[in-house]
Amino acid sequence: MNRIAQDIMNFLQRYPGLSDRELTNLIFGALEPQQRINQECHKLEEKGMISRTKRLDGIIGNYLVQDPFPAEPPAEVSKTESFTIKCPHCKGTGEDLRPSNITGGKCPICKASGHITIQGTKEDYETDEICKGTGRDPYGIDPWKPHDICKGTGIVKK
Ligand SMILES: [Zn+2]
Ligand SMILES: [Zn+2]
Repeated sequence: MNRIAQDIMNFLQRYPGLSDRELTNLIFGALEPQQRINQECHKLEEKGMISRTKRLDGIIGNYLVQDPFPAEPPAEVSKTESFTIKCPHCKGTGEDLRPSNITGGKCPICKASGHITIQGTKEDYETDEICKGTGRDPYGIDPWKPHDICKGTGIVKK
């Protein structure tokens, strides 16, 4: 299994019912095209490893075949007017990556979840040109401080 397929399976284990778009947001980023994920999901479906079925919100969700189908889309993605991006501070690891952080610890931006939910649709947003999508305050004394404009997400309203 390739790396992307593996990532898809891992995310579906944690969040059954993610759509191709939501998987793309988590694996490649919010503004990336979803075609690659869509292809992988179809391949996994052909192999009988996942099943693609409509969720209650009408969006096609992907489910691991051994899972019982949940009656509802996962809470995290149940709002159609929101999308999830990989946390730019911890790069989706959920760990505090600041160089000064000797002891390790949880990412303060995403509260260690590794991703951030943005209200609205992806089309309404673009990469923050001030912090260049890093989510870090480019002018601050502490460059790891969440950037005020994008609130540390690295994306802003168009
Ligand atoms: Zn984070
Ligand atoms: Zn920013």
